[in-house]
Amino acid sequence: MIELIKASVPITEALEHYTNVDLSRINTTRERFNIRCSFHDDRQPSFTIYTDTNRWKCWAGCGQGDVIDLVAKAQGIPLGQAVRLLTEQMGLHKGPQKKKVTKLVKKQLSDKKVISEYKNLLQETFQILLKVEKQINQRIKKVKNITEAENSAELYHKKAYISHLLNCIAYGDEQEQAYAVYMAQQWLDNEIKEAGKDERASTDHIAG
Ligand SMILES: [Zn+2]
Repeated sequence: MIELIKASVPITEALEHYTNVDLSRINTTRERFNIRCSFHDDRQPSFTIYTDTNRWKCWAGCGQGDVIDLVAKAQGIPLGQAVRLLTEQMGLHKGPQKKKVTKLVKKQLSDKKVISEYKNLLQETFQILLKVEKQINQRIKKVKNITEAENSAELYHKKAYISHLLNCIAYGDEQEQAYAVYMAQQWLDNEIKEAGKDERASTDHIAG
C-alpha cells in the first residue's frame, strides 16, 4: 500500500491539498522545479519538487522525502496517519493518477522501442504473480486458528493485492495492464528487499 501511495499521489497534488502552496501558475510538467517553501519563511524558492521521482527537498533544512513525509510534516501527524489520509485521497483521485502512471510506463516503452519485449514482460509478470499467489495460498492453508489468522493479516492483504493485479493484466485494457505491470514491479522489488532484510537479520542473529 505504501509503495502504491508513493507512486500514485503526486507531490504537487499533496502540496496543493495539505499546504497553502498555489501551483496554478507554475509549469508542473517539468522534471524538477523550485517553489517557495511553505514550512519556513522562504524569500527565495528553496523547495525543490522532483516530479520524476515524486520527492521533495527544502534546501534551507526543513527536510526532504516522499509524499508521505510531506503530508506528515504539513499536518504535524505521524507517518501512519499520513498514510491513511493519502489512502483516502487516492481513492478519490484514482482516475487521473492512473493515467499519469500509464503515461510514464508508455514513455519508458517508447524510449526503448521494445513493444515485443513489453508483451513478454506482461506474460512474465503474470506468471510471477501467479507463482507468488500460489505460495501465499499455501501459507494461508497452513493457518490453523484465529490467532494465527490475525498474525497473517498481511498475507491476506497481499493475496487481495495480487489477485487485483492479475485481474488487471488478464482482463484490463492496455492502460490497466501497463499500470498493473508497473505496480507489480514496484511491489515485487519491495518484497525482494524485505525478504533480503529478513534473511540478513536471521544470519546476523546466528553470527552473533
Ligand atoms: Zn523550508
